[in-house]
Amino acid sequence: MDFKAHIRTIADFPKPGIQFYDISTLLAEPPAFAAAIAGLDRLVQGYRPDCLAAIESRGFLFAAPLALAAQARLALIRKRGKLPGSVIGHTYALEYGADHIEISADLLPSGSRVVLIDDLIATGGTAAASVALLRKVGAEVVGAVFLIELAGLGGRAKLDVPSASLLQYQD
Ligand code: AMP
Repeated sequence: MDFKAHIRTIADFPKPGIQFYDISTLLAEPPAFAAAIAGLDRLVQGYRPDCLAAIESRGFLFAAPLALAAQARLALIRKRGKLPGSVIGHTYALEYGADHIEISADLLPSGSRVVLIDDLIATGGTAAASVALLRKVGAEVVGAVFLIELAGLGGRAKLDVPSASLLQYQD
């Protein structure tokens, strides 16, 4: 499967100078979406997780079918104020300013083997913050899996957990 043929790139979105990798075109083609899930499933199951943690929002689209395929629990990592009930949060620095992510406090049994899922890793800041958040709730982060890796940005080197991606772009 030529996955790259199913991912549309859009220049200068959401701001000038950013090349946006749009997975909408992959989601719109069931054979391509199914093949992507099958390829990601092989990467995920290599880490033998008992839970997947999904990064808002496009990470959710991949993590849900992957959790079912792996028969793993699914936990959502969301932006501030989106999750009901008791949450644990983590604030992290951005190039300009800071961001804050949260996870439900009571859904992940302590010591869970967790694989982090997102559609894309760029600088690695979001994924690194998510690993830190998962550790706050007592999870063992055994891996991180991405559909797309912008390899030129070196994001995976920011992670101190094993990681893998299905598709790599150098630019
Ligand atoms: P980063 O923290 O820099 O690794 O950014 C990763 C997050 O931002 C992921 O949740 C992606 O969905 C999103 N993202 C960053 N850069 C892009 C891009 N060029 N195209 C599409 N999504 C992106």
